[in-house]
Amino acid sequence: MDGEPGQNGVDLSQSMRIVRCDQAVEEAVFLAEKVGLFDRDGVLNIDHGYVFKQEKFEWVEGAKEVLIRCREVGYGIGIITNQSGIGRGYYSEAAFLNLMEWVSLEVDVDLVVYCPHAPEADCPGRKPGVRMVEMALQYFGAAGDQAFLVGDKETDIEAASKAGVKAHRFLGGDLREVVKDLGIS
Ligand SMILES: [Mg+2]
Ligand SMILES: [Zn+2]
Repeated sequence: MDGEPGQNGVDLSQSMRIVRCDQAVEEAVFLAEKVGLFDRDGVLNIDHGYVFKQEKFEWVEGAKEVLIRCREVGYGIGIITNQSGIGRGYYSEAAFLNLMEWVSLEVDVDLVVYCPHAPEADCPGRKPGVRMVEMALQYFGAAGDQAFLVGDKETDIEAASKAGVKAHRFLGGDLREVVKDLGIS
């Protein structure tokens, strides 16, 4: 079902790197002194439940603007996302990768780290596990205190905290309100 995405990470576009939870991430390919990490579903797009099609990818208000603005002011941008719908057999890994390729054409994202595993697989990458956050920090060559993470669930907050990353809970509305607190406007 899933074609052959990602034995060593797949370059979907010139600017975005996408890495799976069980792959090795290169060190400091793109050095960023400040790193903005975002959960995907419920933060960047409305969480309609297992979104894997472009038609269902509805941007959260202000989300694109936040990604663009963070990058303008020097943040490396990463998306950290549990995608258990793949492991549960609801959609293919290829469908997920295609959707992220489309996202990368909409806005500049430097890195996507995703976990395709169902909860039963007990993957240490799956949030609230810390591995994907650490992978992102490694990629950007940054320490936890140089990063923030925005998530909509307690599991996002937990994963970030384990890596010493300041976490912000987003419960809907306009994503710009969250980053205002970070001094980004
Ligand atoms: Mg979420
Ligand atoms: Zn995983």
